[in-house]
Amino acid sequence: MIEIGEKKVYCFGGGKAEGNAGMKSLLGGKGANLAEMASLGIPVPAGFTITTEVCNWFGDHDRKHPDDLRSQVEEGVAILEKQMGGLFGDASNPLLLSVRSGARASMPGMMDTVLNIGLNEDTVKGLIGSGGDKRFAYDSYRRFVQMFGDVVLQVRDDDEDPFEELLHAKKKARGVELDTDLTADDLEELVGEYKALVKEKTGKDFPDDPWTQLWGAIDAVFLSWGNARAEAYRRLNNIPGSWGTAVNVQAMVFGNMGDDCATGVAFTRDPSTGEDRFYGEYLKNAQGEDVVAGIRTPQPLNISGKAPGSTEVSLEEDFPECYAELVTIYKNLEDHYRDMQDIEFTIQNRRLWMLQTRNGKRTGFAAVRIAAEMVESGMIDEKTAVLRVDPEQLTQLLLPVFDRKAKNEAIDGGRLLAKGLNAGPGAATGKIVFNAEDAVEWAAKGEKVILVRVETSPEDISGMHAAEGILTSRGGMTSHAAVVARGMGKSCVAGCGDLDINYKSGELKVSGRTLKKGDFLSIDGLTGEVIEGKIPVRPSEIVQVLIEESMSAEESQIFRNFTKIMDLADGFRTLGVRTNADSPTDSTVARRFGAMGIGLCRTEHMFFDGDRIDAVREMILAETVAGRAEALAKILPMQQADFEGIFRAMDGLPVTIRALDPPLHEFLPHSDADIEALAAKLDVSADRLKTLVANLSESNPMLGHRGCRLGIVYPEITAMQARAIFQAAVVVAKEGAKVLPEVMIPLVGHVEELKLQRKIVEDTAKAVFEEMGARVDYLVGTMIELPRAALTADEIAEEAQFFSFGTNDLTQTALGLSRDDAGRFLPYYVELGIYPADPFARLDRNGVGQLVRMGFEKGRATRSDLKVGICGEHGGDPSSVAFCHEVGLNYVSCSPYRVPVARLAAAHAALQEGSTD
Ligand code: ADP
Ligand code: MG
Ligand code: MG
Repeated sequence: MIEIGEKKVYCFGGGKAEGNAGMKSLLGGKGANLAEMASLGIPVPAGFTITTEVCNWFGDHDRKHPDDLRSQVEEGVAILEKQMGGLFGDASNPLLLSVRSGARASMPGMMDTVLNIGLNEDTVKGLIGSGGDKRFAYDSYRRFVQMFGDVVLQVRDDDEDPFEELLHAKKKARGVELDTDLTADDLEELVGEYKALVKEKTGKDFPDDPWTQLWGAIDAVFLSWGNARAEAYRRLNNIPGSWGTAVNVQAMVFGNMGDDCATGVAFTRDPSTGEDRFYGEYLKNAQGEDVVAGIRTPQPLNISGKAPGSTEVSLEEDFPECYAELVTIYKNLEDHYRDMQDIEFTIQNRRLWMLQTRNGKRTGFAAVRIAAEMVESGMIDEKTAVLRVDPEQLTQLLLPVFDRKAKNEAIDGGRLLAKGLNAGPGAATGKIVFNAEDAVEWAAKGEKVILVRVETSPEDISGMHAAEGILTSRGGMTSHAAVVARGMGKSCVAGCGDLDINYKSGELKVSGRTLKKGDFLSIDGLTGEVIEGKIPVRPSEIVQVLIEESMSAEESQIFRNFTKIMDLADGFRTLGVRTNADSPTDSTVARRFGAMGIGLCRTEHMFFDGDRIDAVREMILAETVAGRAEALAKILPMQQADFEGIFRAMDGLPVTIRALDPPLHEFLPHSDADIEALAAKLDVSADRLKTLVANLSESNPMLGHRGCRLGIVYPEITAMQARAIFQAAVVVAKEGAKVLPEVMIPLVGHVEELKLQRKIVEDTAKAVFEEMGARVDYLVGTMIELPRAALTADEIAEEAQFFSFGTNDLTQTALGLSRDDAGRFLPYYVELGIYPADPFARLDRNGVGQLVRMGFEKGRATRSDLKVGICGEHGGDPSSVAFCHEVGLNYVSCSPYRVPVARLAAAHAALQEGSTD
């Protein structure tokens, strides 16, 4: 049942209004703000808003209106006639109306608006009589027939707008270029042609009756709520279909009546940098959409907005009184709404009218600066400042960026080659290399490189590290390349199917061009664009101050604003934020971004470095325990050295180290040549080695011999790793640092597995502490990443001092879908709305989330002080962070560059607790 109130129409105008800014769900954003402006005494053409309830009722009742709507609308028109002077449909003094859509959330350009309603052969003459000239009257008329024909009568074509075609033909016949060059007579003819077109396409005459026009436009707005464009937009932006749109009926004011008229848009602060300056554009003698439609080039609003040396004339110069009034109004609006406003205005015969105000959309840079400056000036409180910045937007502040001018020039010059997935934001430019070795080698020589691969694998890690950016032709947003790149904070464009990569010839073919190894290429990970040649890149100032230390905090206003907001956020959040880091460098970076420890240190990433892989392979391929022990003895000092570095970087903070996790096969060579080379090193026959490698291959490795199953079968591996951890811990503790190791056993499904592994860890710790004559405190715990572990978490907690939800694997195993193979169908699932988002990026609350909640509750029931965190990719996703806060986890852990996002998201979660909106 659709609920609907008695009152369906809310009037505004003449310094009063029945609605206000708090009524957005009933009046839509546009209507509520028009009412608010009217009450503030700001000049707004009078009008009224039909409620969203009527839209919903209409949708639910076979496109009929509630009985009393007609009388309320007629009364509304009568009131605005009185206020504006003029009569709707009157031949001598006609009042024209606009019908404007406006939902609770702004949906720019998604629904329709019709201007100049009420024109016909009689009223157009009246318009000429009442101040306008003939050209103006017919210009308004032809715009009206065009808009009404398109929006209401649906006279449209898939490729070409048939009205535009007629307009074009008319200009051609008259030998003119601009719409404004057409004469009044031309436009009058055009109206006739438009109407003939409507008759031809619809079989009916164009409606001349103003009331028929008005109701047609109102219904068209209701219907536009359900159009495909609007539906797609709502799905993408999580806007419920049940909200409906309001309809605003408003008296027209004219910016196209002559050279003392204009129309424009403005922001009360710079929407891209956040700078506190009034910023906007206007067009003289123009109506509504002209400014954004790009028919003529708009002029800057004020003198400060003019390009140096330009001949443009600003509104400030041409309409000084209106400009002064506009300045007073914008300050008033910003003070009133306590936020940056995006406004629309029209000037008719040097009289200013406001047509819209709303909170302006802004970049991450602007969001942070505006929030920081508004809280400093006392305009908003600290909570509001924190909530004003969308956590996801923070990532923009950390990315290297292309010099904007240089990039535009490149694209204008035809250098855009292709577009892929914007998998790892950031700009990168460098020379093309096709494999990891070249990337490492060239980078060592000081070259900047872009690693171009069909797809990447763990063996490419060092090359990915060395590269400025990564470009792949295959793989989705959660492909190896994408996940690793985001973790590293590297630019990545993935799944760019247009690339034809040939490793053999060292060539890349794309859009008819052939690029070779060593040629310059630029990728924009924020947009997915792949551009030929070099484009200068600037590092983020925050990275320059915090990480590179190449800039001081005093020099960077962006950094100071960022710090201001982050400090405020930390004051509100209760959830801890740790990082996933495998090296001392990553640990340091994360710490500077505010990480409170390491939630996941993957030991296997260390195995690929330099010659280590040889010792690792020797260990894997050993055929006897003694042989394995010998190889492990070689790995031990290397692992120990790594852990020492990490413990030093994390002095005073907990470090969770995960025992070996991936299937051993991943470490082995696969090509014949590589196998032969390894055979020579290990002094075994190539054939024997091939057999050994083949023996280790599995048909489903992700569910195979991996995780703690390795340590169960080869306890000496766990023992070696534990020894490396504890020896490192004691060494660093002796240096005076505070070391807090947490040893984490992966892929446990049964408590007995953990019991066995825990004993090895504890026995090793005891032995090491005795040998070294010193001890450190430590914890042993497990990852919860199998459904069985979540279901038996009460039993597992008997043996675990902490849990860390490994939600990547938990998602794979709970949903029964392989992350590596999901690229072929998962995007389609998301498009269809089966899953609202990629479950590997945003935690699937109803499924995986239940396992997390159950695991948490069962674990705490056994052990009330159980430390619980999460270490999947989800740890850096704001919606998932909010969920973790809700469940009551101790911390989330995410990649270093996501740490600020998680901190802010955790603050939002704490501030929004209990609120319903
Ligand atoms: P959108 O939501 O797409 O911005 P609007 O309802 O704001 O659509 O209208 C589109 C354009 O028409 C805007 O530029 C607006 O300024 C102009 N417009 C709307 N109503 C009137 C009016 N009553 N008088 C003059 N211009 C109007
Ligand atoms: Mg608008
Ligand atoms: Mg796992």
